[in-house]
Amino acid sequence: MSLSPTFDDVRSAAARITPHAHRTPVLRSRRINEQVGADVVFKCENFQRMGAFKFRGAFNALSRFTSEQRRAGVVAYSSGNHAQAIALAARLLDIPATLVMPHDAPAAKVAATKGYGGQVVTYDRYTEDREEIGRALAADRGLTLIPPYDHPHVIAGQGTAAKELFEEVGDLDAIFVPLGGGGLLSGTALSARELSPGCELYGVEPEAGDDGRRSLRQGAIVHIDTPATIADGAQTQHLGAHTFEIIRREVDDILTVTDSELVECMRIFGSVMKIVVEPTGCLGFAAVRKLAPRLRGGRVGVIVSGGNVDLDRFVSLLAS
Ligand SMILES: *Cc1c(COP(=O)(O)O)cnc(C)c1O
Repeated sequence: MSLSPTFDDVRSAAARITPHAHRTPVLRSRRINEQVGADVVFKCENFQRMGAFKFRGAFNALSRFTSEQRRAGVVAYSSGNHAQAIALAARLLDIPATLVMPHDAPAAKVAATKGYGGQVVTYDRYTEDREEIGRALAADRGLTLIPPYDHPHVIAGQGTAAKELFEEVGDLDAIFVPLGGGGLLSGTALSARELSPGCELYGVEPEAGDDGRRSLRQGAIVHIDTPATIADGAQTQHLGAHTFEIIRREVDDILTVTDSELVECMRIFGSVMKIVVEPTGCLGFAAVRKLAPRLRGGRVGVIVSGGNVDLDRFVSLLAS
């Protein structure tokens, strides 16, 4: 389990996931191509089951449980998409799921997690450590802990989105990927290096949480306080040991964008492409818009990672 995943693991994840996950659409827009000056393809994981790519890694990890692990159940800590992904995958595989969520998590996310049959345990995010609670539950009840990004099966599962993209569109000159803890970026790296070896690979973080970029520069994992950003899926405090190993080896650079650049992308996705994308899901496209002069005439991939944003929040972000 401590082995670093390879493209073979992505291939094997794809075989397990395909019957259960959606093959998400690849969308293009002539207007956006004209604005950017490049041919841009969007892999739309906002249309994935439960609304984000995280279903891929969660299902792959749970599908590999032994019968004993299945009986005892899974535990995960997350305020957002990973909790919903674990709850849904666990329901499909008939595994009991316990989710450790902050007591002030958005009601819609708690309700969605419970709706998938997950048992929610709440904690105080200012005074308690969710990783400690998760580990204690795992030890006391014999549950298997599946972390949100730093796990070989999770990374391999996340890599299946880019695998589908490259198989559908062929070689790309560059691909832009939202970056939190690095599961999506490192999985994408495994697929990109195999299926489009010359493709440049960029991770994109919120400016307020640039730990990934600093980690790449320093050659060691940098830890930060929870960053203040509207990109709630990228409020991670550090990369993982597995994800950083792949990222430092394969990724060309890590870029940052501001919250207002994310809001502008939410607006363009809504008005031009008629799709709802959550702030974190806009990271890749925001970087493409910034780098447009350098991308001119090229073929560019963007992973649109998720669409789980409360509609009231969507509206108030656009109005701000
Ligand atoms: C979790 C998440 C990310 C970040 O993924 P990592 O694997 O942690 O880097 C990006 N976008 C969305 C929508 C997410 O839910």
